[in-house]
Amino acid sequence: MTQECIFCKIVAGEIPAKLVYQDEQVTVFHDINPAAPVHVLIVPNRHIESLATVDGEAAETVGRLLTVADQVAQLTGVAETGYRVAINVGRDGGLAVYHLHAHLLGGRRLSWPPG
Ligand code: 5GP
Ligand code: ZN
Repeated sequence: MTQECIFCKIVAGEIPAKLVYQDEQVTVFHDINPAAPVHVLIVPNRHIESLATVDGEAAETVGRLLTVADQVAQLTGVAETGYRVAINVGRDGGLAVYHLHAHLLGGRRLSWPPG
């Protein structure tokens, strides 16, 4: 647990979030400012700063985020219509919260390439 990390606090249940799924490795909750009808964040329970700091041990956790993504797509009803999983990295990637997370977006037609 990293003291001032908002996602660590959500994982620990110290600040509220609309949880979709949680197990011993990952927590999934609705984004506070949704960019699509379905917009959830999939985060490792253990604090990992970003994709840029993923080492060998954390690589397994990254795989788990992506496996959970399809399960959550089914739970939230977008598995059939399709969805996007995005991991932002660094300034140009638009990273704002430095606790690794995958966005799962769906429920509308998403443009490509992203803005
Ligand atoms: P990033 O730009 O770092 O990839 O995405 C961070 C995401 O976290 C944003 O989409 C933002 O809306 C969301 N977010 C930031 N603070 C909170 C919060 O306190 N609760 C929830 N549920 N989402 C948050
Ligand atoms: Zn954290």
